[in-house]
Amino acid sequence: MAEEILETSLKHSAPTSTKEYIPSPPHVRGGYFLIGTTSPEELFISEDFEEDQQMVGDTVKEFCIKEIQDPFFQRGRELVVTNEADKAEMVAILKRAGDLGLCGVSIPEAYGGMGLDFKTNTLISYNLSHGFSFATTLGAQTSIGCLPLVYYGTEAQKQQYLPKIASAEFIAAYALTEPNAGSDANSGKAKATLSKDGKHYILNGQKIWITNGGVADVYTVFAKIEDDEKLSAFIVERTYEGFSIGAEEKKFGIKGSSTVPIFFDNCKIPVENLLGERQGGFKMALTILNGGRIKAGTGAIGGAMNALDRAVKYGKERKQFNVPITSFGAIQYKIGDIAMRIFANQAACFRTADMIDQKRVSLKSNGVSDGESKIKAISEFAIEASIVKVKGSELVCYAIDEAIQIHGGMGYAVETGLGMGYRDARITKIYEGTNDINSMLAVGELSKRGLVTKELDLVGAGKKIPRFIAQQMNPFRSKSNEQEQERIVQGIKNTFLYVSGMAGKKLKKKLVEEQEIILNLSTILQEAYVGESALLKVQKLTKDAQSDKRKLVIQEQMVQLYLYEALAKVRKAAMEAVASFATGRARKRHVKMIQRMLKPYEVNPKELRRNIAQAVIDRGGYEF
Ligand SMILES: Cc1cc2nc3c(=O)[nH]c(=O)nc-3n(C[C@H](O)[C@H](O)[C@H](O)COP(=O)(O)OP(=O)(O)OC[C@H]3O[C@@H](n4cnc5c(N)ncnc54)[C@H](O)[C@@H]3O)c2cc1C
Repeated sequence: MAEEILETSLKHSAPTSTKEYIPSPPHVRGGYFLIGTTSPEELFISEDFEEDQQMVGDTVKEFCIKEIQDPFFQRGRELVVTNEADKAEMVAILKRAGDLGLCGVSIPEAYGGMGLDFKTNTLISYNLSHGFSFATTLGAQTSIGCLPLVYYGTEAQKQQYLPKIASAEFIAAYALTEPNAGSDANSGKAKATLSKDGKHYILNGQKIWITNGGVADVYTVFAKIEDDEKLSAFIVERTYEGFSIGAEEKKFGIKGSSTVPIFFDNCKIPVENLLGERQGGFKMALTILNGGRIKAGTGAIGGAMNALDRAVKYGKERKQFNVPITSFGAIQYKIGDIAMRIFANQAACFRTADMIDQKRVSLKSNGVSDGESKIKAISEFAIEASIVKVKGSELVCYAIDEAIQIHGGMGYAVETGLGMGYRDARITKIYEGTNDINSMLAVGELSKRGLVTKELDLVGAGKKIPRFIAQQMNPFRSKSNEQEQERIVQGIKNTFLYVSGMAGKKLKKKLVEEQEIILNLSTILQEAYVGESALLKVQKLTKDAQSDKRKLVIQEQMVQLYLYEALAKVRKAAMEAVASFATGRARKRHVKMIQRMLKPYEVNPKELRRNIAQAVIDRGGYEF
């Protein structure tokens, strides 16, 4: 199997040739979704994964079931790394993943990895969700643990560490957070000074909440050098003098994942272990987090799918009032709703991952180095990364909560594992940047690109709103379902442009201090991206003669339901934003505009949810 996986990696690594310049298509630009149009053909969807890419995903799933799920159900309890035997077991599983090549999925082949492209890595994250908290362990190894080295390492650093991380001889960790520097990561106190002989950096300070920290061999540690304004990054080995590890945190979830504080007491780091440029650490930290956010969001959607499958399986068997509980509308509401959200959010995740690959190929073909092309491609999609992280994590928390509800009392029993899933899911809203921070980041980054760097013509897009409204007022306008759906997506985008424009006009620079309004705007932005992704996916499937037509009927209904729900959320967020900065006649004018942009969508949500739920129940789980 390992050889097969390696073969796959050869086929799907991004091209290394720099001879032919491949321009990235116009839609492959961060934030472009808001102002431009993407055609369905340009969207990458899960059905586009090649067989061998799917095979890598399946291998991960099989591994997780064999190594994590089956032992869990036999043992009747989760692994808890505060227990030394469980911790050793977790490390042994990670080493076995390394034997299969699964620790090297994001490491280039030249350093012993598979060098898989970003979207295949995202597919892996999706399937890793079958591994409970092991997903965090392996995810940290293949993402935040090794990517600083992959992207920023010198040749010597890569040669020294990456083959060992790929084989799991070394376990890797990423250490940014400090007791007083979490969301405000650049404010950390850890400080490095150059030794008198110039051979070492002497590091003092502390990091907390370090995933894999209790078992890692190598850490990327962020700290300021002397009185620098910004962070630098260092490669620190566990064996270095002055380095120590604290006790495992007693967490209420992801108990099988090691999380510790680490300490530096005059820790001696060889000068050649400075990673990237001096003061380049903060930018590095953000780039790594952006990539991690997309994988975390996709993994969360995988978790939601698992929760749904468990709920459907149980619900079909459980009878009350002489019928399976899945025949009740109240249960179908939950099943239909979760399935629809999985469909839409998954479309957004793979769309983002593919655009990163496309951007990277284009940059490389233009002579940009491998590491630099990865950094630039990921940074380009910071807005989308924040969106998929926020939406995915919200979804998994919702799905597991409802899966427990569908199980009734059994949902509360340890043996089902749902309680563990409930606790595990909660972390996804916190790490890789909290959801609040990510929500605000998405809007902040978009504004920067529109108003500061002028990469996105937000003003030009806003000028098209009157024409859009005039079309809405035309009583003879065509109203096919597809056109209605396109109108809703455009209406949501326009609502963002309009409300943000009006808020900016009224509040000027003070808008950045009005976080409630920014969060309202972020809700609108998120729905625009996910709603459009779902719609494009169905449009693409509709045009494909090979599509499963019976499935397509349901997928189309999922889009209807998603847009119906999105409209309600967007309307609430937009009205609330306007009520927060406008009064009197101005407020009335804004409300009228919003109503014109967000005309109701006349569908029957009850029937849609029932139809979707019935299709999921008939198939015994989510297969869309
Ligand atoms: C299990 C686990 C594993 C982790 N793994 C790692 C790891 O491997 N490496 C690592 O470096 N870190 C890791 N972290 C740390 C994690 O990234 C941080 O916990 C997270 O970024 C939040 O930082 P904080 O805990 O200091 O919260 P704070 O920053 O104190 O935030 C507390 C609350 O205030 C809000 N808030 C903060 N600033 C603002 C603002 N400007 N505006 C509005 N609201 C704000 C936040 O959204 C949050 O709701 C991990 C954490 C956990 C729990």
